Amino acid sequence: MEPTIYFVIPCYNEEAVLPETTRRLTEKLEAMRQAGLLGPDSRILYVNDGSKDKTWELISRYHQENPWVEGVKLAHNRGHQNALLCGLMTAKDRCDAAISMDADLQDDIDALDQFVQKFREGCDVVYGVRNKRDTDTWFKRTTAEGFYKVMKLLGVDVVFNHADYRLMSQRALEGLSEYKEVNLFLRGIVPLIGYRSDYVYYDRHERFAGESKYPLKKMLSFALDGITSFSVKPLKLISSLGILISVLSVFGLLYALISYFAGWAVSGWTAIVCSIWLLGGLQMLCLGVVGGYIGKIYSEVKARPRYRVETYLEKKPQDTQE
Ligand code: UDP
Ligand code: MG
Repeated sequence: MEPTIYFVIPCYNEEAVLPETTRRLTEKLEAMRQAGLLGPDSRILYVNDGSKDKTWELISRYHQENPWVEGVKLAHNRGHQNALLCGLMTAKDRCDAAISMDADLQDDIDALDQFVQKFREGCDVVYGVRNKRDTDTWFKRTTAEGFYKVMKLLGVDVVFNHADYRLMSQRALEGLSEYKEVNLFLRGIVPLIGYRSDYVYYDRHERFAGESKYPLKKMLSFALDGITSFSVKPLKLISSLGILISVLSVFGLLYALISYFAGWAVSGWTAIVCSIWLLGGLQMLCLGVVGGYIGKIYSEVKARPRYRVETYLEKKPQDTQE
């Protein structure tokens, strides 16, 4: 049977791109339907993320005119990740798999066939990975690649050069729904869900209309969210720093005492320098200890699922031979 696939697209002030996006996607979906890749109940699901322009009017119109289009309207602007999650959760009980993509079709839609192909081969998650970043400015390329490297360094499992162009099967979506955290960084959560995954490589185009909704400020806060939601290593760093300073303080102490007995030191200097080093190191160490506990509380509060069973090879009582 052909799978029911939902194409989930968050939209924030996208009136400039929606007509063209809808036209191109409809064409693509019809071709995929012809090729037997999509079931008749597949849909394009636009999530209006509190747009201030005519985005919702357009979505409502397409919903009436176009048999593929559905729409969800959020009450206010909650940001890309939340809008995307809303779309995926809406699709969860209606589809066999959902593919998330951006409204500007920067991610090549000709790769969609491969996504569905891999899903049919049994993958639960298919990541879209950009071949190269030559359509990006030097600045965006360097910061983005640097970000993935820092994430790896901090022990976070993210797919290099993968944004939010991905397919998730229904059971992967079910897994995602168990992550209740508010500071969403989907790219970090999806690899945690597990299951079989694969990659599809594609070229990223320039935005054909409208402008990026991710200015530098939003991008930075998104990157910070990614780091702080997935790693407590920065907290652990404080402990290491505390230990380092405490060790250094011993040398500082020695130097101060030698200066005192050798008579180089001005009166009072030794006591001040000794206390500064010792106290600084101790304070840093204590902060590290507190940080250790805060890190634990943080993990507890996120209440992430601790495991997920993929298969259970069970023996029923009637299978047991006497
Ligand atoms: N988006 C959203 N809410 C926001 C910001 C962005 O739903 O607050 C959507 C936007 O409409 C687009 C996607 O997120 O479909 C990615 O945004 P954009 O293309 O501007 O990001 P870029 O490709 O420049 O990183
Ligand atoms: Mg874009």
